[in-house]
Amino acid sequence: MSSNIKIQRICQHCSKEFTARTTVTKYCNDYCSKRAYKARLRSGKIEGSNKETERIKKKPIEELKAKEFLTVRDVSKLLNCSIRTTYRLIAQGHIRAVNLLQRKTLIRRSEIDTLFELPTPESETKQPITMEASESYTLAEVQEKYGISERALHDFIRRKNIPRTKQGWYTHVPKVLIDQLLS
Ligand SMILES: [Zn+2]
Repeated sequence: MSSNIKIQRICQHCSKEFTARTTVTKYCNDYCSKRAYKARLRSGKIEGSNKETERIKKKPIEELKAKEFLTVRDVSKLLNCSIRTTYRLIAQGHIRAVNLLQRKTLIRRSEIDTLFELPTPESETKQPITMEASESYTLAEVQEKYGISERALHDFIRRKNIPRTKQGWYTHVPKVLIDQLLS
């Protein structure tokens, strides 16, 4: 399209006069042409139709969110994963499902919500325990008595699920249990 022609034009975006190289040029430069395109997007049909497409795509999701029971296909849509993955999540026990008929598996919608709930930390669900000083060690005492590092002790306590309680500055663990496990 480029040629030796030179046409004086008025930019349709910034209204500046410019020299066009083709007969169809509407804007003085790239910048104006891009701005003009964006302005058209904003006011025009392109964005409108994009929004409509989005709305149509999202509509089933909104409908699924209102349902009490979901099929495996519904769940895969909600989670944006494959049907296979959904079956695997069920098999692994992440999602509880009911097999009503051979080809009819239903999932309660609330199951999907609980998937994303964070588990309550163990320490918060457990009843607080108190330990007599004579029946317990502080962590420093255990480290000293059995010559293990702080880190190793913490790992050990967690691995063996040893009950512990914080009294003042110190964490206490039951003497009997520690002696039984470490000596
Ligand atoms: Zn311009």
